[in-house]
Amino acid sequence: MAEVLNVLTVPVMRKVYRHFNDDLPNECVGMVWDDGEVARLLNQAHSPERFSVSLPLLTEKLAAREGIVVAIYHSHPTGGTHLSSSDESSLRAQWRRDIFIPWLVVDGEGGKLWYPNTEGEITVAGIFVTTDPTFGTDARQAWEYGLVQV
Ligand SMILES: [Zn+2]
Repeated sequence: MAEVLNVLTVPVMRKVYRHFNDDLPNECVGMVWDDGEVARLLNQAHSPERFSVSLPLLTEKLAAREGIVVAIYHSHPTGGTHLSSSDESSLRAQWRRDIFIPWLVVDGEGGKLWYPNTEGEITVAGIFVTTDPTFGTDARQAWEYGLVQV
């Protein structure tokens, strides 16, 4: 988990937030590679309340380059960084396929990184606070601020 937080630096989070803003009023969705590249995906739902991704397009993007996806992100433009019930069921379905990639949910004020603990319960592995005065100067501090282990 620490590796994910090291990848999600302030410059990387800025790219996520650029995507968030570009896709307003709809939810944005994408993934972050281990080298910090942010790959935008098309939200085929074109909705401010949900997202859907084409599996063939996703598979194509994953096959097109080397590396590891360290986080899958999407936004909640109307606010809140909790998983919706459909988010939670999608995340559980992903884990049942042995794909243990944490989900980053961002809104206008920050983000939460969701991950299963060893018992398979969904926990918050990190909180990103954009209103933190350190945002823009020290990525790790920004992530550690308010970091909770549930
Ligand atoms: Zn969601």
